[in-house]
Amino acid sequence: MSRNPGDSGNTCNSSDVGDGRAALETAYRHALSFHAARRSQPPAATADFNALLEAFGGPTPETGASAAEVIESLAAAAEPGLMGTAGARFFGWVVGGSHPVGVAADWLTSVWGQNAGCYQGAPAGAVAEQVVAQWLLDILRLPSECAVGFTTGATMSNFVCLAAARGALLRRAGWDIEADGMFGAPPITVHIGDDAHASVLASLRYLGFGARSLVRIPTDEAGRMKPAALRAALASCHGPLIVIAQAGHIMTGAFDPVDEIATLTHARGGWLHVDGAFGLWARACPARAQLAQGLDRADSWATDAHKWLQAPYECGCAFVRDADAHRRAMTIGASYLPEADGGIRDPLHYAPELSRRARGFALWALLRAFGRQGIAAMIERHCMLAQRMAQRLAAEPGIEILNHVELNQLVVQFGAGEAAQQRDALTVETIARIQAAGVCYAGGARWREREVMRVSVISWPTSAEDIDHSADSMIAAWRAVRRRHANALPDSARIAVQV
Ligand SMILES: *Cc1c(COP(=O)(O)O)cnc(C)c1O
Repeated sequence: MSRNPGDSGNTCNSSDVGDGRAALETAYRHALSFHAARRSQPPAATADFNALLEAFGGPTPETGASAAEVIESLAAAAEPGLMGTAGARFFGWVVGGSHPVGVAADWLTSVWGQNAGCYQGAPAGAVAEQVVAQWLLDILRLPSECAVGFTTGATMSNFVCLAAARGALLRRAGWDIEADGMFGAPPITVHIGDDAHASVLASLRYLGFGARSLVRIPTDEAGRMKPAALRAALASCHGPLIVIAQAGHIMTGAFDPVDEIATLTHARGGWLHVDGAFGLWARACPARAQLAQGLDRADSWATDAHKWLQAPYECGCAFVRDADAHRRAMTIGASYLPEADGGIRDPLHYAPELSRRARGFALWALLRAFGRQGIAAMIERHCMLAQRMAQRLAAEPGIEILNHVELNQLVVQFGAGEAAQQRDALTVETIARIQAAGVCYAGGARWREREVMRVSVISWPTSAEDIDHSADSMIAAWRAVRRRHANALPDSARIAVQV
């Protein structure tokens, strides 16, 4: 490529801006070609661990290198090891597709290099967050008095909300946790569904709630907390109480019956927190909003923007009705961090980090680009596409959809009609074939004692053609597996061949 007149062409030690320009231009070219190939890219990495280690490895660099060459070799090393999460036929986990508008805003965020901790350090970043906070409360139809924190994801959003809950409940019990800490505090009982996301347990751990201290509430066949079981558990529970409900189960997409759970929790003076990493967005979609009925009765909510809103990583949101509790739990103060006043919101009061990127810019750009209606339309489209995929698969003999597809999630098993062990083996083999075919990506999991394939339709570029093409590939893989097994292998040998 041509060099800039001012480009020394040397190393990153160069004081000349030309080298930086070459780096940015190289990244720009790679980004454009990656974007153009989004639909045709393989849905999973093509390089294995050893190949990647070789591509990235080598001795510790002693001397610098040309910035453009570094970026060039980064792309060459990384691209074979990329998963197709930003593509159209990736259904592997509940992950968003990093929409280009958010990515473009995120580039500028990095170039601008703002430290978004406080208003004085990053005025535009702070104001973008302040505006986006209100837009999000409006779009998700949450109480307007909520404080909002922008985090790295739902794990940390759950952490923020539960820290606020812990502080508020203990304050009511006469204990000042911010001053006196956790040791010796009155115990808080945490009730949580058996199907809570593993990351919620992690965030509870960071707050001093060990796994054995939690009261686990049984769930139904879709993974929803059983209100009768919660009622029974609460009957014998005294003192400060947190109940954690889930909106959007990572396998089935199911919602806990939050309306009933809110009544039970608040009757006991408890704090209801909702993990709605992706399910909370159903509230932004009139056609699906009834799934999330009563969710606004909770006291705090965690969600992700890097899932259904398609924001680039890392972006989550924490909403807390008791803004004072939120702020007390998270605030960071120092003499050299001037306090904003006059209605100005300082980000450092609402999230765990001090120095951090200005997450408000990408969110602002995405919300402007989609609009309320665009978000609703995308969510509805994904739910309809999930149903389309379910119908296509269910029409094929031997394929069973194990969940009621009311959101964007499918739980699939292959080998319907076979013995349980055989179904598991056939499912594992079919998933491997689907992945090897390279048309789409879906992964396996264990669900209710069964091996299953999970499908999440949650990526902005996914179209009906992508769904049909992927369903065809899944069905072809299943037919090949079935044919192989129909071919005279004695029953006893079949399983052995699989594992
Ligand atoms: C993804 C997810 C989380 C964790 O979110 P991160 O953004 O990965 O931290 C928590 N709960 C549910 C239901 C999720 O789907």
